[in-house]
Amino acid sequence: MARAAVLGRLTWRVATVVAARDEGEVARTLVLDVPGWTGHAPGQHVDLRLTAEDGYSAQRSYSIASAPVDGRLELTVQRVADGEVSPYLVEVALPGDSFEVRGPIGGYFVWRGGDPSPVLLIAGGSGIVPLMAMIRTRSANGSRVPFRLLYSTRSPATAIYADELAGADPGLQVAYAYTRHAPPDSPRPPGRLDGALLAEAGWPAELAPACYVCGPTGFVEAMADLLVNQGHAADRIRTERFGGTT
Ligand SMILES: Cc1cc2nc3c(=O)[nH]c(=O)nc-3n(C[C@H](O)[C@H](O)[C@H](O)COP(=O)(O)OP(=O)(O)OC[C@H]3O[C@@H](n4cnc5c(N)ncnc54)[C@H](O)[C@@H]3O)c2cc1C
Repeated sequence: MARAAVLGRLTWRVATVVAARDEGEVARTLVLDVPGWTGHAPGQHVDLRLTAEDGYSAQRSYSIASAPVDGRLELTVQRVADGEVSPYLVEVALPGDSFEVRGPIGGYFVWRGGDPSPVLLIAGGSGIVPLMAMIRTRSANGSRVPFRLLYSTRSPATAIYADELAGADPGLQVAYAYTRHAPPDSPRPPGRLDGALLAEAGWPAELAPACYVCGPTGFVEAMADLLVNQGHAADRIRTERFGGTT
């Protein structure tokens, strides 16, 4: 049984794009039909492989954005300037196109829902994607576990899932750190997500929240340091690094 599950994760499956929608100015969600896909845990990712007609192939990792559903999953990709794979997924891929995925991958950066502790989600840029899967799973399961999200993004135009997050239920509080341009009604001027915002909009360390931090490598390391400096235990902090430098 376990062997079958491992083989399933290692098998490349054909994924067909059935819908696509823009997410702000820099990202796009692809809804994929994947026959044989048997769901995932929120926080997991897939490997995605593109193969050209001449046989050249390129492979990247993408977090799963959707709550678990058999046979279908959603990925949200942010365009990296001069990137090899992400511009294709954001600007070119259309419904009817297909590529390959394998997974789900990862068992550590996962919210399993059995822990009643409050949850603190900290996202930088496209690092919001696996955290959104946790938010959507919480909602789909009718969970009452209180969530707080701190989301660092350059400006309102680069924010992913902004409408969905604005309409979220009272059990989810969202605070933005706009690093370049803040909207006129923002409670704070543009700037990095810092200790003051973490103390104001996160959970106090005494509540021992389960902390999930995801984004570019430098961002994740800075946030993990801030959490530890504010008294959060290292074993309550889970991180996922997407690469890049900012
Ligand atoms: C576990 C995991 C999950 C991921 N999930 C997502 C996701 O849900 N959505 C998403 O958009 N991306 C995600 N990524 C990042 C993704 O795998 C690619 O790295 C990204 O799409 C860039 O690929 P590319 O081929 O366009 O760029 P490349 O051709 O690989 O790189 C081009 C240039 O961009 C730089 N670069 C590479 N990756 C990044 C990055 N993430 N940020 C900034 N600069 C970068 C490179 O150093 C290089 O200079 C994830 C990465 C990991 C490891």
